[in-house]
Amino acid sequence: MNLSEANKKDIDVVLNKCGWRQTKQRVILLKSIFDGKDKHFSINQMNETLKDNRSYFSLTTLYENLNTLVDKGYLKQIIVDKQSFYDTNTTNHIHVYHQEENKIYDYDDCTELHKDLPIPACLALLEEYSLVINLKKKK
Ligand SMILES: [Zn+2]
Repeated sequence: MNLSEANKKDIDVVLNKCGWRQTKQRVILLKSIFDGKDKHFSINQMNETLKDNRSYFSLTTLYENLNTLVDKGYLKQIIVDKQSFYDTNTTNHIHVYHQEENKIYDYDDCTELHKDLPIPACLALLEEYSLVINLKKKK
């Protein structure tokens, strides 16, 4: 979903589905998240982005709003190491959590793993799954 160039009507669809009143803040939130790029972010990272875009949410409100977007199927939540990350790509795919960077990557984009090794074949049998590889490099 790309809302960066979206007109009022497209944004209203999302707002209505979430049961939200239209506020300037929420429009900035939606445009900041759905800017056309697939991305992973933590609540703190989104909070920083919003500040850069001059929109201020309390962390509690931000958390609630992100959870609503997860409930309505617009975002996927990934929990790793007791932290919540969010993904704008809601299809099934494998994630890699990079401990040192405290970031989530898509397995396909992670250059540090050997892609010629097979991933668990049983995943192909599942309708939905969540798999996160928690990566810590050898010292
Ligand atoms: Zn992802």
